[in-house]
Amino acid sequence: MNEFQPIDSKEGYDPTQDPHCIPCLDHGFVRLVDTMGDDACIVQAARVSYGQGTKSVRADRALIFYLMQHQHTTPFEMVEFKFHCRMPIFVARQWIRHRTANVNEVSGRYSVMEDVFWVPSLDDLRKQSNTNRQGSVEGEIISEPEAREIQKSFQDDQQKIYEEYQHYLDVGVAREIARANLPLSIYTEWYWKIDLHNLLHFLRLRLDAHAQKEIRVYAEAMAHFVKEKCPSAWAAFEEHQLFATHLSQSETKLVAEVMEENNLWTKVEEKRLAQLKNEEASETRIEREIADLRRRLVKTF
Ligand SMILES: Cc1cc2nc3c(=O)[nH]c(=O)nc-3n(C[C@H](O)[C@H](O)[C@H](O)COP(=O)(O)OP(=O)(O)OC[C@H]3O[C@@H](n4cnc5c(N)ncnc54)[C@H](O)[C@@H]3O)c2cc1C
Repeated sequence: MNEFQPIDSKEGYDPTQDPHCIPCLDHGFVRLVDTMGDDACIVQAARVSYGQGTKSVRADRALIFYLMQHQHTTPFEMVEFKFHCRMPIFVARQWIRHRTANVNEVSGRYSVMEDVFWVPSLDDLRKQSNTNRQGSVEGEIISEPEAREIQKSFQDDQQKIYEEYQHYLDVGVAREIARANLPLSIYTEWYWKIDLHNLLHFLRLRLDAHAQKEIRVYAEAMAHFVKEKCPSAWAAFEEHQLFATHLSQSETKLVAEVMEENNLWTKVEEKRLAQLKNEEASETRIEREIADLRRRLVKTF
């Protein structure tokens, strides 16, 4: 284990004051509680089959890139992250769909739910998209004074409902029943532990522009910790997954046709070769990458 101690069990402990805590939304956070392993651990696992540990930093990084590119995923499962997170329930509903994590959430049966609610800022009051039924339009927001009225109505309703909740508890209603009328905007908390392979899968989905902004901010906070702890794995993830693209068969055919008509295959190969030389890639890697590129570019024909 490492420097992250279970200090949160101390009385009066405020997680938001922890240096490993990143605030999210108005009252939420992602706090890195513990980690196991790093880039070296990925390399160590990958090389176990022929009894060698880490080599030079450069060779280790190249191996991590190779593993990521070819989806040799199990070495990435050797690294683990444990987070303590606080988020509104509507964010938790989306988050919990990622089944490969271990979760322990605060219990509304055992504890009295705290009076902490998410209130949209004026910028958060995005308009419904007409083209994407599931989404909003980034940058297009409800204008004032309507926006301020909506914000106030969120706050008034939350206060009223929380007062009712307290009243139910005061007259003896069980916590498990009293909490049933609380809104999706109330905050919940959990411990969330996941291996790096599955965390990157989560981040690929939840950093994407299609993901709701309110969960994206949590993904960004976790990405910060991954980048810090596993810089090579993160760089390989950016290169081969996050900023890579996937084309359908029809799209691939279209691109290939245009490339063929304009005799662009050779140009792409030449440019990729120059890129690899610029990166001072080894001869073996250049040979492998160019052959691989050729195979992928022409595979549909
Ligand atoms: C932008 C966006 C919009 C979405 N909209 C909706 C929506 O409208 N309605 C809705 O219900 N959901 C929605 N989802 C949730 C989505 O369908 C997935 O449930 C969620 O993203 C988790 O993905 P996952 O199953 O790949 O992840 P995880 O549960 O973390 O699983 C990771 C991988 O493990 C494997 N795996 C895990 N469990 C199983 C299993 N039981 N059987 C087989 N393989 C398994 C799969 O390969 C899976 O990809 C949305 C997600 C996103 C990102």
